[in-house]
Amino acid sequence: MSQTTHRSQTRPIKVGRVPVGGGAPVSVQSMTTTKTADVENTLAQVYALAGAGADIVRITCNDVDAAVGLAEIVPRSPVPIIADIHYQYRLALAALEAGVQGLRLNPGNIRKPEQIRTVAREAKDRGIPIRVGVNAGSLDRDLMARYGSATPEALVASALKEIEYLAEEDFEDIKISVKHSHVPSMVNSYRLLAETLNYPLHLGVTEAGPPPGGLIKSVAGIATLLLEGIGDTIRFSLTADPVEEAQAGRRLLEYLDLRERTGLDLIACPSCGRAEVDVLEVAKEAQDKLENEKIPIQVAVMGCVVNGPGEAREADIGIAAGRGRGHLFIKGKVIRVVPEDEMVDALLDEARKLVEEGLDARLAAADQNAADLAAQDRQVLIEIQGDANRVKDRRAAVAGIVSRDG
Ligand code: SF4
Repeated sequence: MSQTTHRSQTRPIKVGRVPVGGGAPVSVQSMTTTKTADVENTLAQVYALAGAGADIVRITCNDVDAAVGLAEIVPRSPVPIIADIHYQYRLALAALEAGVQGLRLNPGNIRKPEQIRTVAREAKDRGIPIRVGVNAGSLDRDLMARYGSATPEALVASALKEIEYLAEEDFEDIKISVKHSHVPSMVNSYRLLAETLNYPLHLGVTEAGPPPGGLIKSVAGIATLLLEGIGDTIRFSLTADPVEEAQAGRRLLEYLDLRERTGLDLIACPSCGRAEVDVLEVAKEAQDKLENEKIPIQVAVMGCVVNGPGEAREADIGIAAGRGRGHLFIKGKVIRVVPEDEMVDALLDEARKLVEEGLDARLAAADQNAADLAAQDRQVLIEIQGDANRVKDRRAAVAGIVSRDG
């Protein structure tokens, strides 16, 4: 894994077998949407979330039936389970009894210090961490009165108050979130929190809404902080199938070089008047075919051979279209030229071989005529369409200026 950012050193905790904080890889969380008492459907969703990239799954524990369901779900789950608790501290105790690997408490609605301390004692005895999950929409009434609104200072004050109660029981296995639905407020709240404390932080934009808006808000808030080195675990709160949340979280971490690539990274040009194919359609076909294969490489789909292979030379593999043919390239070097209607299948075939055999073997197996054929196609297109960079025109213009008298 290449780390692009210096990460804040936070106090490490463990949620089951998943380390959080202290320099551990940033983890992905999501939450089930089923009724927890419906054990089979909840477990099916937990498995789907784990398959989509979730390292930890949160499940609501909102009544006794849910707590009983957790007792069956936890031992059968492929990932650690966190019980989400609101209002009733007794449900936190029941969830602990059910064997959950983490608790999330909302300081805005479990407000009696003695109740919080009781939960802390029980969690401590079992070595279970607690997330102090502050949410702008459900902030403690006293803090709302004092700060006037859910400001970053108010959210952090709420977290500090809860941590004090936990500290009275010497409880330290804490992670914290200060979620807000307004992205700048969310970012500023976490920045303030990171300056104030060194507990691991769970990042999220709350109630972000359906995609694409919800995705954009989540990425804006979470990525900003991650790139500043803030954040140890993340959740996208989308109004969508939670599988989308897990996928989005995982992808974000891969794109930021914070987790190893496990899936496809498809890059494609946006298309323009030079495109020799319908780039949108070809990119979609390539995505559909390659995504199923879970091929962990970067693949480029480029609309023309004039600029495509050069602009996508960093990609592991790619195709560019030109004059009814597809140019298949590896790290910018054309290795095969195929008929246009076969180019996506050829790409798929070559991607599989690249993963199996490695870069050097596939470059060595390149068709010796491919580079010449590609150069010819490219030259003809430049002559028809003009050089995209107008190199000839610019050279002539520069030479004209230099040779001018006086
Ligand atoms: S690769 Fe070709 S078709 Fe795609 S945007 Fe660039 S110039 Fe246009």
